[in-house]
Amino acid sequence: MRQAGRHFLQIPGPSAVPDRILRAIDMPVIDHRGPGFAELGNRVLTGMKSIFQCQGPVVIYPASGTGAWEAALANTLSPGDHVLMIETGHFASMWKRLAEKYALVPQVVETDWRRGADPELLEQTLRADSGSNIKAVCVVHNETSTGCTSRIADLRRAIDASGHPALLMVDTISGLASADFRFDDWGVDVAISGSQKGLMLPPGLSFNAVSEKALQAARSSTLHKSYWDWQEMLGANERGYFPYTPATNLLYGLAEAIDMLHEEGLDNVFSRHQRHAAATRLAVETWGLEVQCKVASEHSPVLTAVRTPEGHDADKLRSTILEHFNMSLGNGLAKVQGVVFRIGHLGDFNDLMLMATLSGIEMGLHKAGVPHSTGGVQAAMDYLKDNTAAASKAA
Ligand SMILES: *Cc1c(COP(=O)(O)O)cnc(C)c1O
Repeated sequence: MRQAGRHFLQIPGPSAVPDRILRAIDMPVIDHRGPGFAELGNRVLTGMKSIFQCQGPVVIYPASGTGAWEAALANTLSPGDHVLMIETGHFASMWKRLAEKYALVPQVVETDWRRGADPELLEQTLRADSGSNIKAVCVVHNETSTGCTSRIADLRRAIDASGHPALLMVDTISGLASADFRFDDWGVDVAISGSQKGLMLPPGLSFNAVSEKALQAARSSTLHKSYWDWQEMLGANERGYFPYTPATNLLYGLAEAIDMLHEEGLDNVFSRHQRHAAATRLAVETWGLEVQCKVASEHSPVLTAVRTPEGHDADKLRSTILEHFNMSLGNGLAKVQGVVFRIGHLGDFNDLMLMATLSGIEMGLHKAGVPHSTGGVQAAMDYLKDNTAAASKAA
């Protein structure tokens, strides 16, 4: 049966695509080797540098984020290389499995999935690797399965303090364009991102931002690569073209997304996300539920993962909410399946969309019989009206 009104897609990616981007994508496909293409190519290749905040190249693949994960490893490393992977959650562990399939040797630092990567532990681990066997440190900026961020600038300082030469690779697939991320300032060597989260696009594009040090590592890397090969890409990109057919219409959308982010201002985009995350946590607290991330300085601005009380299946709550209120929330992944549900508050999102989202959850908690206190929606509303966008920016 038709459900009136729009579906609320409140999973932490894909995020809802704004009409302006849908209209930008709605264009005839053009010849990607023709004279007109380079204008679009150059526009997005340059534009993405302003989003990653980097001077060096950004590679754009017609692929999901997973492809860009693969590209980061395949371009810089060789079989048998050790990689240090901080297992902050499900996405970190998936990246680790990918590394194993590439005949790399992951050294895993485990966590309880309730915090970001620990800079001190990273420094100790690198100091202990006196032979510099570890070629890369791989960390997820915004762990989408737990709602915890890792403090990338602090991790960089830890690597520098240890004097270790490993590359720093950062998955910011769900962080970029929602959470503050500064490729050059933070000394990242390869950053990985995707189109369907903070960038507000449909799935189908992914990215590698690449440092000079990573380009140098690429020269001696012997892992097999063809589709993912940076050299082929960078050669064609110099003139605004791609070595194989790019996702032309998604690139139209990407150009629009970059414009939209700069019209709002990246700092305003980041503080908007933080403000919505703070209001969401206040609602969760008022309901008497627990946020999965335990470290205040590491709460994600992109999503909030919420634990349901013992004996109450988070997936049952999600299906109740979908059935009654036509809203999709993120499921708990792997270890936390049924234990958490995830509220996405990312992308093209505003106060009233957040209030609708939280209302659907509060009504759903009641309908699904999950013990809670009422008043979460009111608490979030009070927060939003007392902390206007401008004030929270100044704070
Ligand atoms: C979404 C996501 C991925 C996977 O990206 P796909 O586009 O599904 O391949 C990897 N890491 C993180 C942190 C993500 O949020």
